[in-house]
Amino acid sequence: MTEERKQNTEPDWSEYRGVLVVVEQRNGKAKPVSWQLLGIGRKLAQKLEVDTLALVMGHNVDHLAQEAVYYGADKVYLADDPVLKDYRTYPYSRVCLELIRQIKPEIVLFGATYTGRDLAGAIATHLPTGLTADSTMLDVEPPPSRLLLASRPAFSEKMVATILCKRYRPQMATARPGVFDALPRDASRQGETIPFACPVKEEDVAARVIDFIQDEQRVNLEDASVIVAGGRGLGGPEGFKVLKELADALGGEVGASRAVVEAGWISHDHQVGQTGHTVRPKLYIAVGISGAVQHVVGMQNSDVIVAINKDPDAPIFKVAHYGVVGDWSEIVPAMIEEVKKRRGLAMVEQA
Ligand SMILES: Cc1cc2nc3c(=O)[nH]c(=O)nc-3n(C[C@H](O)[C@H](O)[C@H](O)COP(=O)(O)OP(=O)(O)OC[C@H]3O[C@@H](n4cnc5c(N)ncnc54)[C@H](O)[C@@H]3O)c2cc1C
Repeated sequence: MTEERKQNTEPDWSEYRGVLVVVEQRNGKAKPVSWQLLGIGRKLAQKLEVDTLALVMGHNVDHLAQEAVYYGADKVYLADDPVLKDYRTYPYSRVCLELIRQIKPEIVLFGATYTGRDLAGAIATHLPTGLTADSTMLDVEPPPSRLLLASRPAFSEKMVATILCKRYRPQMATARPGVFDALPRDASRQGETIPFACPVKEEDVAARVIDFIQDEQRVNLEDASVIVAGGRGLGGPEGFKVLKELADALGGEVGASRAVVEAGWISHDHQVGQTGHTVRPKLYIAVGISGAVQHVVGMQNSDVIVAINKDPDAPIFKVAHYGVVGDWSEIVPAMIEEVKKRRGLAMVEQA
């Protein structure tokens, strides 16, 4: 227990400045959430009048340090070491801990991905400090308070809780992928890359990564650029076979409303919305989905939304850029045929 706590006085955190974003990558490719975090992180930093900082960890990932600058970082700490090639909790958390102790950021943000959650939890317990998981809104109180306001759904999504970390630093949060806007990539932005030595040797790490096997069955909605989502209007689980065909033809994934997940037509990992995934693909096709607010909050930031629904008054048409009023079982097969025809033509033209 710290002295400040015993005396019950306001601790002095003036040494802690800057907003640090931990960039997540796999095989040298950044997760989109990393740039979304830099977008919100920069807004917070501007309100606090401090630098936006980024930490890139991995092996042969210096190109990502440059990308982090293009997406809004002022200073990027680059820990590039063979030990950091694959994600493992121990070496990654040690790098973060060392850096945080040295540079003392007031806020640290991670993506609420499997990796981000694991890493943030490991760090928060070591420092120790407060961590808000799965935030969907982030703001700061202006100086002198400088408090991070991390909001997240709570109690089965029935309430939104805003959580403060008043007495410890840094203030840490994981943030849901797809919720925040990345800044446009600006290749003229200037920033500084600072090499940061990995404090861990391979022989100190107990865990070994033998192989990385991509699960063919696993849905990756957050990274998908096209999502074809189905709702109760499909009439039964067989409808998803047709949606899968359209999704495959477009190189995308299948999403779903909660109604059909609860009906057991498809697994929960496909669910989009408040209690499912928040997605922002280039194209979201909503088939037989009414557009309840709990669904819409999970997909309204998609670049282009196409709705197919037989009810012209369905609320989904309020968020759709393009709408087709009709029976999906006639429209979707026609779309599949057209997409295949055009894709086939494109392949011939390229050849
Ligand atoms: C706390 C809470 C959290 C929730 N979280 C989520 C969430 O994360 N995600 C989510 O999706 N929902 C969530 N919901 C549920 C949400 O409120 C809706 O009940 C749900 O989204 C409705 O799903 P739906 O659109 O598939 O079904 P419905 O509302 O029944 O809509 C079916 C639509 O299909 C159309 N249709 C019917 N037949 C056809 C046809 N042949 N061709 C074309 N269109 C047709 C109908 O006109 C209708 O618009 C949540 C609710 C609560 C209370």
